[in-house]
Amino acid sequence: MKNVDRISKIKRMRTWANWNIGLGILLMYIGYAFFAGYLGSWFEKNYLFMLILLLIGFIMTMVATVLFMISGMVSMTSPQVQCPSCNKVTKMLGKEDACMYCGQPLALTEETQ
Ligand SMILES: [Zn+2]
Repeated sequence: MKNVDRISKIKRMRTWANWNIGLGILLMYIGYAFFAGYLGSWFEKNYLFMLILLLIGFIMTMVATVLFMISGMVSMTSPQVQCPSCNKVTKMLGKEDACMYCGQPLALTEETQ
């Protein structure tokens, strides 16, 4: 039986960062599209509205980039363990994490540390 309710922390961070980049770029596009008048004339030539959307989009993309960097650095230093259910080598973040491939919950014990 696959246990998929648990997602490994590194994977979760990457998924989150990925969504953040997508949404951030989408927000920036929407801001520009409104400004140019593609999406109706309510916010056409409205600099403040575009600026706010561009800033939010930019910040979201930057946060996602930092998250990607952190997840990259963390996965370089985190210990590797072999998953007992799918036998693949996965990485542990913290004392408790889940397998990156099958979602099997894992815990670091004294002997594996
Ligand atoms: Zn596994």
